[in-house]
Amino acid sequence: MKYRYLLPATLFVGFATLQAQESVSNAGRWSKEQIQNERPAVVTPPGHTTDAKPGAMPSDAIVFFDGKDLSKWKGRGKGEDDAAKWQVKDGFMEVVRGTGAIQTRDQVEGDCQWHIEWCTPAEVKGNSQGRGNSGVFIGGYPEVQVLDSFQNDTYPDGQASSLYKKSVTLVNASRGPGKWQTYDIICIREKKDAAGKVIQPGSITVLHNGIVTQFAVQEGGKAVSGGLSLQDHGNPVRFRNIWARKLVVPPVKAPRK
Ligand code: MG
Repeated sequence: MKYRYLLPATLFVGFATLQAQESVSNAGRWSKEQIQNERPAVVTPPGHTTDAKPGAMPSDAIVFFDGKDLSKWKGRGKGEDDAAKWQVKDGFMEVVRGTGAIQTRDQVEGDCQWHIEWCTPAEVKGNSQGRGNSGVFIGGYPEVQVLDSFQNDTYPDGQASSLYKKSVTLVNASRGPGKWQTYDIICIREKKDAAGKVIQPGSITVLHNGIVTQFAVQEGGKAVSGGLSLQDHGNPVRFRNIWARKLVVPPVKAPRK
């Protein structure tokens, strides 16, 4: 009699395994061989000193979150009910599942640098895209993926510090679950001359825990300004110390002779 459950159990395990494989391979967009061959190398980031408190802000920082409240953020509601509904405690904000993405009320015009600190749950649950998933969206640019990519395989352009489905991270500079991590993101906006010809394409550069993981990738940057939005992907990811700086970056030109 006890074998009567064997076939359904086998089918269930087989199905679950297939589902897990599919979630890693993104339903065939990446083959298992491609994931194996193109998996970004792991680099251990320096300076593991960021857990106790956030880093200091530069004197010209435009502060969006200093650990106190979400007054500079809005949620998906409209009118007077547009407040961000994520939780704030102990100097950080945390995704509240189902409340939706939150975005800055103000935008930053022109070229800019953004600093964001984030932390995926210390208690590991799920795998691939289901583990510590959130994301950083800067107006006009692709998602900079937030994910627990510490010993957690997924498709290369879906892991932490990838530009989601656009650009694979150069290396995997992830810290472990429950550890605070940093993104420093440099956004260069497209520039045109008086005749409307593009003289500098828009680009995005990302440093993950101080390691360059995307360099001047020409994705986005057509808008002249943008705010920052954080994704609710259902996982209780935490954020702190979010600020921007305006940059004045002239178009690249040859050095004087
Ligand atoms: Mg995401």
